[in-house]
Amino acid sequence: MDFDLSQEQQAFADSVRRLARDKLAAGALQRAHSAEFPWNIAKLLSEQGLLGITIREEDGGIGGTLMDAVIAIQELALVCPKSADVVQAGTFGPIRTFAEYAPAALKQRFLGDLLGGRKLMALGMSEPAAGSAATELQTTAKETAGGFILNGSKVFSTHSPNATVFLVYVRYGPGLDGIGSVVVERGTPGFEVGQPSEFMSGEQWCQLYFNDCLVPRDNVVLGPGGFKKQIAGFNVERIGNASRSLALGRHAFNVAREHCMTREQFGRPLCEFQGLQWKVAEMAVKLDAAPLLLYRAAQRADGGMPSVYDTSTAKLACNMAGFEVANDAMQAMGAYGYSSESLVEYCVKRTRGWMIAGGSIEMLKNRIAEDVFGRRFDQRPAKRA
Ligand SMILES: Cc1cc2nc3c(=O)[nH]c(=O)nc-3n(C[C@H](O)[C@H](O)[C@H](O)COP(=O)(O)OP(=O)(O)OC[C@H]3O[C@@H](n4cnc5c(N)ncnc54)[C@H](O)[C@@H]3O)c2cc1C
Repeated sequence: MDFDLSQEQQAFADSVRRLARDKLAAGALQRAHSAEFPWNIAKLLSEQGLLGITIREEDGGIGGTLMDAVIAIQELALVCPKSADVVQAGTFGPIRTFAEYAPAALKQRFLGDLLGGRKLMALGMSEPAAGSAATELQTTAKETAGGFILNGSKVFSTHSPNATVFLVYVRYGPGLDGIGSVVVERGTPGFEVGQPSEFMSGEQWCQLYFNDCLVPRDNVVLGPGGFKKQIAGFNVERIGNASRSLALGRHAFNVAREHCMTREQFGRPLCEFQGLQWKVAEMAVKLDAAPLLLYRAAQRADGGMPSVYDTSTAKLACNMAGFEVANDAMQAMGAYGYSSESLVEYCVKRTRGWMIAGGSIEMLKNRIAEDVFGRRFDQRPAKRA
């Protein structure tokens, strides 16, 4: 069994690392704290072939593997978290589901600008009354002469303040088989993007409102029965989420390690205190263990789509490792780690969010347990006779 990257993968990782250090390290802190989407970075990463890494060449992508995409997003996140968010949006996010399942004409309309870093796609899945229970979504798409009329609302959508186009999960009819998705452009009559709210990390999101919003039939990505495919695409999004969790944990670890070797208290460097040594040793084990599940999920991904089980175990391990390590790194650095002048406190806040976003750690455990026991556990209360 080989635990190392192949020669080509290592060379690719080295080249992305060089790019990150040369072009993205300066300004990483300021970018992290800015609510603005870094369009200049999107352009740069597009020119460097780091958007659409797993999207087919005939669709304007790079045609690489999911493992290539994981390597790229991790190397960038280690240096500049905000730049990794750009790769998430341009490779792992709703764009991946869109590129996999949208009809050719629809892809042609949008992919060029999205992969060129000129436009941004956001995902409208969560609703005020449908979070973990995503299949309870209520946004309806009713067929009419000119297409579909949308009514409903979406919350928490990443990049919604800056996105120009939205992949919206809708209900064409009742039940799981009634769910599918459409693309809605900002500015479409009946579609309103609300005022920005802020997460703990400083990321902004806007509530999305659909009031008799007419969407042309050509904008349908997946019709009724499309939910399973949407979740297959969403698994890729979760791999990007896991990759960044891990990289931000590693970033905080590197900064804390340096700090512990140079900061002196009681006349000796912090690294000479056993309490900190044990903490750092536990952090190192977490950072070494979690990537094994992440890389397994990426390497085994069939046609670039990882399995639900591999995705769940990888995301759970990386979310936990990323947050716990970043949080311990902050503790090891005292007030220096807690200060917003280093990226460490930002790493804590971001990694905390990924334990909720894209399938909370509790929902991942539910899914893993189903595989362990080989049966489904319905989360809904039993129906009364
Ligand atoms: C940073 C961030 C970015 C996001 N980006 C997007 C986005 O781009 N697009 C989008 O549509 N949404 C997005 N979301 C929303 C995200 O998908 C939801 O927050 C997530 O699905 C959980 O839903 P909820 O917040 O409504 O919590 P709830 O579903 O209300 O859950 C509350 C708590 O109960 C637990 N819980 C719920 N059900 C169960 C169960 N059956 N078993 C055990 N525990 C359970 C949950 O794990 C959680 O801890 C984002 C969220 C965050 C934090």
